[in-house]
Amino acid sequence: MNSHSESTVVVIGGGIAGSEAAWQAARCGVDVILYEMRPAVTTEAHTTDLLAEMVGNNSFGVWLSSKADGLLKRELRQLQSLVLDSADRCALPESYELLLDRQQMAATLTEALTEHPRIEIRREHVTELPRSGAVVVASGPLTSQPLARALYRAIGQPYRFFYQSSAPVVRLHNIDASGLVSGSPFDPQRDSGERNWLLDEAGFEAFCAALTEAETTVPNEAAPKELLERYLPVEIMARRGQHLLQRGPMSAGRLVDPASGQRPTALVRLVPEDAKGDLWRLAGIGTGLPPDEQQRVFGQLPGLEGLEIVRPGRAMRSVFVAAPATVTRSGRVADCGGLFLAGQLLGTANYTEAAATGWLAGVNAVRWACRREPALIPGETMFGSLVHRLTESDVSNYCPEPVNFGMLPTEREDASLSKEERRQLQVQKSEVVLAEFFAGQMAEVNS
Ligand SMILES: Cc1cc2nc3c(=O)[nH]c(=O)nc-3n(C[C@H](O)[C@H](O)[C@H](O)COP(=O)(O)OP(=O)(O)OC[C@H]3O[C@@H](n4cnc5c(N)ncnc54)[C@H](O)[C@@H]3O)c2cc1C
Repeated sequence: MNSHSESTVVVIGGGIAGSEAAWQAARCGVDVILYEMRPAVTTEAHTTDLLAEMVGNNSFGVWLSSKADGLLKRELRQLQSLVLDSADRCALPESYELLLDRQQMAATLTEALTEHPRIEIRREHVTELPRSGAVVVASGPLTSQPLARALYRAIGQPYRFFYQSSAPVVRLHNIDASGLVSGSPFDPQRDSGERNWLLDEAGFEAFCAALTEAETTVPNEAAPKELLERYLPVEIMARRGQHLLQRGPMSAGRLVDPASGQRPTALVRLVPEDAKGDLWRLAGIGTGLPPDEQQRVFGQLPGLEGLEIVRPGRAMRSVFVAAPATVTRSGRVADCGGLFLAGQLLGTANYTEAAATGWLAGVNAVRWACRREPALIPGETMFGSLVHRLTESDVSNYCPEPVNFGMLPTEREDASLSKEERRQLQVQKSEVVLAEFFAGQMAEVNS
């Protein structure tokens, strides 16, 4: 890593969190150097040299602010997040979830960062932490080994990881389209572009048998803490019991087969991956089967034999730091000078949360460099509750977990309200306190 001036903020990792951190630091008026190792060195999951490439689903979660991740997105829009602004501009039409064209999203962010006069992008593999200055490490779940070693050494923690998998993206050839039922299993009246392939008992059992027998890249000896329930690949679920698939990613929910009027045994959800309707993601079917096994096993699904896997799913080790033991509410590592962490390294669970922590680290890295008090996100917001979970929860059970409304504080007088009324109030409070917080922020930046 070449030298840089003390007032410059260094961001390591040009993913979702690092892109937001770099943008926010530059917005606060300092020079930023953003290091990204791709394309010279790449990860098992990234396939382009673009910044902020989404390696898993093409979904940023639901739009609705009555849902926790919807509220977090709304808050980030209020805080002028670059990632959320780009996501909104790259959304596929008519979706219930914020589904994105991932190529367009990464290209939009890359262009914005490249053109920013205060941001210099260096395509270099960082193997050591800078010794001084404000540094945001946002190198993500697939942080390169040398940097991971340097980081764990600096913060004095053991190496931690869990297995995380992505779902295959497919093209459908010679499929009987009448077999594809629209509507969401959770809300059959809602047509948000997704399609469901229904399976009867025999078809589902044959699929589970094929999954169970298939070879997987996830090692047999993985410890329970490395195989978190929320992130289990489907072949491991099938081995543990078919009911896990039926109650989880292959649940038929409330969907009924229009031909028979019966509930199917299970289903495969196909979620649009591009605006043309050419590519589909097998939603929730995260897998670590080798690509040829995926083609063989998923190509056996009765009626979906013409399925072509164009982007195989992958299971890989995702590293993270036990943040509550060491990271403060500003995103700074305690007793490590100006070292900040952001993104999945901190234990965030998805893209929106990664962007949020990038925002926090970017802003506070500048404040640290300028010897100002850190900006602390109000606790009445979903963002503040996320930071609270990341930095103050019980460290012994710590693992990535998405935001939920239970994390938000409730007033005692709210107890008599219905769940909906309470949420509405929480959403309103978040908007008011965040507006005040951001106005204060902007006033300082402009002073
Ligand atoms: C297999 C898999 C599937 C996933 N599926 C989903 C999903 O469906 N939905 C979801 O919301 N999240 C998913 N995630 C989590 C997702 O990766 C995060 O939500 C989000 O990308 C985290 O953002 P980040 O900025 O922390 O990391 P990333 O977006 O991964 O960015 C880190 C960047 O740092 C770079 N880098 C790493 N080491 C170095 C180094 N030494 N020097 C310079 N640059 C470096 C990398 O190349 C990368 O560009 C998945 C993760 C994995 C591994």
